[in-house]
Amino acid sequence: MIYLDNAATTKMYEGGVDIYKKYACQSFYNPSAGYREATNIAHDLDNVRNKMLAKLKATKGKIIFTGGATESNNLAIFGSRRNGKWEYIFSVGEHPSVYNGALELERQGFTVHFVGLQKNGQIDYNQLEGLVNERTRLISVMHVSNETGAINDLKKIDQIRQKHCPKALFHVDGVQAFCKLTFSVDDFNADLYTFSAHKFHGPKGVGGLYVRNISSLKNIVFGGGQEEGYRSGTENVGGIMAMGFAVEHYNTQENFEKVASLQKIFLKYLDEAGVDYLKTDNPYIVSASFKGVNGETLMRVLQDKGVLVGIGSACSAKKAGNRILENMGLSKDEVKSHIRISFSEELSLNEVEMAGQIITQAYKEILEKVK
Ligand code: PMP
Repeated sequence: MIYLDNAATTKMYEGGVDIYKKYACQSFYNPSAGYREATNIAHDLDNVRNKMLAKLKATKGKIIFTGGATESNNLAIFGSRRNGKWEYIFSVGEHPSVYNGALELERQGFTVHFVGLQKNGQIDYNQLEGLVNERTRLISVMHVSNETGAINDLKKIDQIRQKHCPKALFHVDGVQAFCKLTFSVDDFNADLYTFSAHKFHGPKGVGGLYVRNISSLKNIVFGGGQEEGYRSGTENVGGIMAMGFAVEHYNTQENFEKVASLQKIFLKYLDEAGVDYLKTDNPYIVSASFKGVNGETLMRVLQDKGVLVGIGSACSAKKAGNRILENMGLSKDEVKSHIRISFSEELSLNEVEMAGQIITQAYKEILEKVK
């Protein structure tokens, strides 16, 4: 199989599996227990916190470990909710773990605004500027779109925030950017930044939330008070340690360059076959429209030919239509013919060339059939 759905999930590093096993079978103690064997594990978890902060290049703030990005996003949204005349701003392009949280906030009676997208997949900054005011409590905009790969200009969003509502919190869903892009959360003064281990070769069901100022947040889970009270429940020690291994071994610069060169080669095939795709500065995700064919049909044909690609985010693949692509102004036909191809540095040049040939050949064959 040639796996081109790395935005859905990535393969775990084998070293991380070994670490997981160590913390499951040998150092298996509960980090909240009082004896030295256990407090050593709490210390190991703190080492991973520091690794995450280092990757985020954060000069201050804390890491709360969670059960993945969906939970981190919920903590960010519902943990920053306050009574009173506050307003909450989200982009239309958010992952369902943010978007559906925004809809729930609205159902609970909070004032929620949505910012639309431009044709290039980034949010509409002018619209955002028109929406923010002194009542803005939270601005939540993703770093990289999981659907299109578009990179939002977070510095610009921060500038808008600083100008009109400096007290508002800025939450960034960084799932598709963390480890992959070089940045510091200080560059755009993020108050909250979400990440998920399984997108950078860590295990599924573990992630975290970076919190610049812990007093800005309230817990949404009630229990034993782990994670300083912000996420009760015994920590997923093996998962967190394996995530620490992944973040340490992910070479952001080297991988970016490798993926960029693989993507360049792949795009040549799409260009030759006349396939439209969104141009972004992100080499990891290609969002393409195979005009005249149904994306789902193409995905199934490709699966039989040994190439796995995505149609929209895995979590929303079963939903009809596509809120994000439609908001960007793609026609119904373009949306229907959409495929997401996402890369990993673990792919070989040969695999990428083969995938380019198989995909464009399959496209031609289906086009012939539907003529
Ligand atoms: N946000 C984005 C941008 C994502 O791509 C994903 C995963 N598709 C999530 C959140 C949810 O992550 P998790 O699977 O860790 O809950």
